[in-house]
Amino acid sequence: MKLTLGHLYPNHMNIYGDRGNVLTLYQRALWRGIEMDIISLEPGMPVPADQFDILFMGGGQDTQQIKVCHDLQTLKGEGIREAASQGMVILAICGGYQLMGHYYKPHDGDQLPGLGLIDAYTIAGSKRFIGNVSLKRPDGQTVVGFENHSGLTYLAKDVTPLGSVISGYGNNGEDGYEGAVVGNIYGTYLHGSLLPKNPQLADELLLKALHYRYGPKVILEPLNNTLEVQAHQKALAFKP
Ligand code: GLN
Repeated sequence: MKLTLGHLYPNHMNIYGDRGNVLTLYQRALWRGIEMDIISLEPGMPVPADQFDILFMGGGQDTQQIKVCHDLQTLKGEGIREAASQGMVILAICGGYQLMGHYYKPHDGDQLPGLGLIDAYTIAGSKRFIGNVSLKRPDGQTVVGFENHSGLTYLAKDVTPLGSVISGYGNNGEDGYEGAVVGNIYGTYLHGSLLPKNPQLADELLLKALHYRYGPKVILEPLNNTLEVQAHQKALAFKP
């Protein structure tokens, strides 16, 4: 089997090691004998709706978000929306997550339009949320990472968060939630990078991408996650 991953703006939206998520998906597929093509999607490149199984977008400073958001809207938005409506997997981190909502209003300048794939909006706050984060998903799975954002993200009532904050700030430091999951679209503030220390989440994304491409009968062979789980447990013990 083979998967194709589109990496949105790898040279603009890649802070705090976010490209490590792409490497993790690639390696965890390879360990199962699943090939993965990784295509960099730079400004000026369209996103054909049927080409990708997973899209990844990392985080970025306001200036980088301003640089990419017009291209994201005009050149890539239609293909991404069409593919997402069919079940393509998307993982968006921090600044990328913000641009999957309706808009992001930075401190300076105009509101940046998002793709509206997540019913949420973000406004820059006066405080920067920095530090280790741990959260608990609805199924009890824990997720760990690192956050650094001033954006305050507010989910619509019917949007499922990635999880409830155990320690750290999360979406806005008020409602106790972090991230968002809408079908196969995952948004989160967790840098780190996220997936190496959260193998269960990494495999959830891989399996959804395989089901999208090859149908629901595909299974993912388990891996020995001893090292990843040790790293996860260490990070879970971090104080914010
Ligand atoms: N510029 C956005 C903010 O400050 C996103 C930052 C990021 O991607 N780490 O909230």
